[in-house]
Amino acid sequence: MKIIFAKNLGFCFGVKRAVELSENILNKDPKPVYFWGKPIHNERVVKKIRSGEEKFITSPKQAKSGTLVIRGHGVSPFVPPKNIKIRDLTCPLVKKVQLAARSLFKKGYQVIIIGDKNHPEVKGIKGYTQNKAAVIESEQQAKRIKKIKKMGAVSQTTQDFNKVNKILKILKKKARNFQWLNTLCPEVISRQKELLKILKKADGVLVIGSRTSANTKRLADIAKNSKRKVFWANSLKDLKKQRFRGIFTLGVVSGTSAPNWEIEKIKKWLDTKQK
Ligand code: SF4
Repeated sequence: MKIIFAKNLGFCFGVKRAVELSENILNKDPKPVYFWGKPIHNERVVKKIRSGEEKFITSPKQAKSGTLVIRGHGVSPFVPPKNIKIRDLTCPLVKKVQLAARSLFKKGYQVIIIGDKNHPEVKGIKGYTQNKAAVIESEQQAKRIKKIKKMGAVSQTTQDFNKVNKILKILKKKARNFQWLNTLCPEVISRQKELLKILKKADGVLVIGSRTSANTKRLADIAKNSKRKVFWANSLKDLKKQRFRGIFTLGVVSGTSAPNWEIEKIKKWLDTKQK
């Protein structure tokens, strides 16, 4: 089997920052440490950074003392609890979407978020528009939107750039004054573009990362839509359970929260399978 490894594998800068800050917080900041949501979407990475003393909560009101940590996907504006240290892991690119949505909202635009309505990042962004933004997940939903005067669109950072472009084409016809603030993450787009190139040569694709990660799922969807066989692994152990029968060329890509240490092990193991 021939193997084509993507150039961009492992943590993006936002995840690397969230992991390093989490470790630092757990070592040095006042206890107890409350995590408002999972710091990142990869259970293996979260397991590795846990010290055993932290608590996971779903509302800031549950934090009574110590340190409150905001997840990498960000949260809606909130009133910070008193006498508590706040540490914000929100990726700077997610922060950019939140501020873009707020600025459009303040200027009187009907804000549209192109994204997955149940994803924590999207819920957080919506909060910056006093929950007035509409979330669009598909071209069908975009077609159903009524015509209005002012419409401003942003997208979840990890959306499929091809899908976003198709939705934008529809939305542009829905408002006389239409604004699009491009908030797609460049790192995510470059991984999607690299995958599209790999798909021209590969008949199977190994996606490394967690099934709970939006950008990793997007890579798997792109490969599936191109009718390629998709294999998932979040560790070398997962990979060893896979059977690559009938695959001549395997492309290997990873989500931005895939653990670097597992990727190194996977690369070494796959190298032994190359012909
Ligand atoms: S994928 Fe992009 S937006 Fe998400 S954490 Fe990484 S750098 Fe930030």
